[in-house]
Amino acid sequence: MKTISAIDEKSDLLKIITFPDPLLTRKSERVENITQEIVDLSGKMIKAMIAAPGQGLAAVQVGALKRIIVMDDKSGGEDDEIEPVTMINPEIIDSEGVEINEEGCLSIPTIYADLPRPSSVRVSFTSLDGRHEQIELKGASARCLAHEVDHLDGSLFWDRLSKGRRLWLKMKFFKRFGLK
Ligand code: ZN
Repeated sequence: MKTISAIDEKSDLLKIITFPDPLLTRKSERVENITQEIVDLSGKMIKAMIAAPGQGLAAVQVGALKRIIVMDDKSGGEDDEIEPVTMINPEIIDSEGVEINEEGCLSIPTIYADLPRPSSVRVSFTSLDGRHEQIELKGASARCLAHEVDHLDGSLFWDRLSKGRRLWLKMKFFKRFGLK
């Protein structure tokens, strides 16, 4: 019965939407009340993020236009240890430095580009138990956070590139998936 339960577990996974789904360009709404539905959604988002596998996921990527992100914060423990964090209504309140590094997105599979992001960010958010928190993230975690907050505003990583570069990446994506 091992196989069947594995299949069940898979079919239970939230589907991650991909470009050019129009939802990805929409702005997500603030979460005013942390209901059981929000807690359940965040749990499912963490499962989908780990299964993908990815470092972060915004609710819009699973079709919910709510300001919720989950991420695996690598800044704490070991590299291979998954430390999922849920942030409700995250806001970057301060950032420092610039780092250029390769970035990808679960909603634009197989496409990567070098992109500048702050080397550290201070983010305020509400945790699942309703507490207001502030944390500082650096390096890959700062990049991931900035990437996910962009999703909440309907923006994808290539929107931060020049128009020419963006068009080139879009063409590459369409061609690869036979979309155009
Ligand atoms: Zn993304």
